[in-house]
Amino acid sequence: MRTPLIAGNWKMNGSADLVGAFGRAFAEAELPDGLEVAIFPPFPYLESARRAFAGTPIDLGAQTLNPLHSGAHTGEVSGRMLCEFGVRYALVGHSERRQLYRESDEQVYDRLLAALSVDLVPVLCVGETLEERDAGRTMEVVLRQVGFVMSRLEPEQRSRVVIAYEPVWAIGTGRTATPEQAQEVMAAIRDYQASFDAELASAMRLLYGGSMNAGNAAELLSQPDIDGGLVGGASLKVDDFLAICQSAG
Ligand code: PEP
Repeated sequence: MRTPLIAGNWKMNGSADLVGAFGRAFAEAELPDGLEVAIFPPFPYLESARRAFAGTPIDLGAQTLNPLHSGAHTGEVSGRMLCEFGVRYALVGHSERRQLYRESDEQVYDRLLAALSVDLVPVLCVGETLEERDAGRTMEVVLRQVGFVMSRLEPEQRSRVVIAYEPVWAIGTGRTATPEQAQEVMAAIRDYQASFDAELASAMRLLYGGSMNAGNAAELLSQPDIDGGLVGGASLKVDDFLAICQSAG
């Protein structure tokens, strides 16, 4: 059995008030047994989130990290620093970082290695653009992104990676992949992984991301290869995010 994970990526949104509201709501919330929940706030909120989420099931995640531990890299944050704030997860390869900040597969790999080196759980984001889907290249693109990273890792490292399939055309657009579309790609990711190691593939957690909301989460999460969600917009509303968590039971 794989442990389900619902992760909220706040991107460059949120506020100190929102941190407090999540802390209060989740301190009292009834959640499905065994569900893991994580919020990825912007860096400045990590310390207040750590305090507000103590006593709740919410773990902390970081939206990115630098591949290095320290140095002359103005504006950057390292994995070691994140660990000082109790951060457990780190996103790598989010499509916004790939597109807006031109992160290559190599850079994604370097960041993922940095996360592993300080025992953060990397959440590797992959997904095709609409143009790539329309050209029938979805599997090629997604498996290239997965393969670039996973084929370079040792088996023990691979076992610590969570993969989030996020079709770029579904992120922030309100256009969700159908459960069948998501399941098809996520089964292919698991099959690809099984070509290295079947046991690891069946234990690997795969999240779906892309306009997941309180109305569509249950159906997406009921697919056999979907073990959780990476939620953007709907993770900024306490009630919606709570409802998504509750549908992961
Ligand atoms: C995301 O940013 O990872 C995401 C899935 O966003 P949204 O839920 O808003 O599509």
